[in-house]
Amino acid sequence: MIVDLNTAIAKLKAGQVVAIPTETVYGLAADARNDDALRQIYVIKERPANNPLIVHIDNISRVTDWVSEFPPLAQKLAKTFWPGPFTLVLPAKPHVSSILRANQPTVALRIPNHPLTLQLLQLSGLALAAPSANKFTQLSPTTAMHVQAGLGDEVPVLDGGACQVGIESTIVAVQGDDWQLLRPGMTSAASIATVAGKPAVSFNQAIKAPGQHTLHYSPRTRMQLIPSRDALVALANDSTAALLIGEGTLPDCVHFQLNKHAPDVAQQLYSTLHQMDALGKQLILVEVPPDAPEWAAILDRMTRAAS
Ligand code: AMP
Ligand code: MG
Repeated sequence: MIVDLNTAIAKLKAGQVVAIPTETVYGLAADARNDDALRQIYVIKERPANNPLIVHIDNISRVTDWVSEFPPLAQKLAKTFWPGPFTLVLPAKPHVSSILRANQPTVALRIPNHPLTLQLLQLSGLALAAPSANKFTQLSPTTAMHVQAGLGDEVPVLDGGACQVGIESTIVAVQGDDWQLLRPGMTSAASIATVAGKPAVSFNQAIKAPGQHTLHYSPRTRMQLIPSRDALVALANDSTAALLIGEGTLPDCVHFQLNKHAPDVAQQLYSTLHQMDALGKQLILVEVPPDAPEWAAILDRMTRAAS
């Protein structure tokens, strides 16, 4: 059911979950300080308890409510990339709910860049845990309609329009003056390296991003990633649906075409896959994007959706 801002705030304060817009994907939000509310997220999503949640805050001054260390490198990255599709993983203060962090010693934080969500955070005074508002492993929602189709009409949804970034945030862990990329996203590793003044490292075992399952972000229809346009043309037929990256048409096969511009493809990827899934074909064929750094996050999501 669609709810307005005041209803969303009242429900969240009462310990209920509400699906909210962000610029990445729609999130299933709950008060990050209320364990009963957090448990409902896991139940509704059918999400394994070992998969921690990202806390959404409205101001950088809130970070130290949650973390025991906020190193200068993390401060610099936060000041540069917030609000935006960028999540920081830092050592958690002891009081931070173990449900929220799935027993990790760390907590994940982000300031989202969506005017309605920022208003929601400011007016409610809450910090909101909000994983994608879909069932575990399914396609993430980028419209209020996707949320309703995936989770049912009982879940209240605050409608903030279509998501502008369209895929999940970049996740970075910071330890001292080193950083590690835990999940690629539209804040590129190259831009993070530039701000950090150094490339990413790999912390030996210390920090993991649980929940990076190979099968993730998937349509119900079987999906294959096809390495070239020629190979895709050869496989396309009446029982397939195809997604072309760049110019072109495909006779005898329902097809969708996205501009060969990474931010556009990211923005439209899930909503296009939702549409393709609804066609009920036997197979979804997706043309592999160019082999270049700005496509890394898109390739990551396509690979998981197809596995
Ligand atoms: P999402 O489901 O898109 O909101 O993303 C949540 C993901 O953030 C999880 O699956 C983890 O990969 C990552 N994450 C959240 N909290 C932590 C944490 N404390 N430590 C490491 N990774 C985290
Ligand atoms: Mg998710």
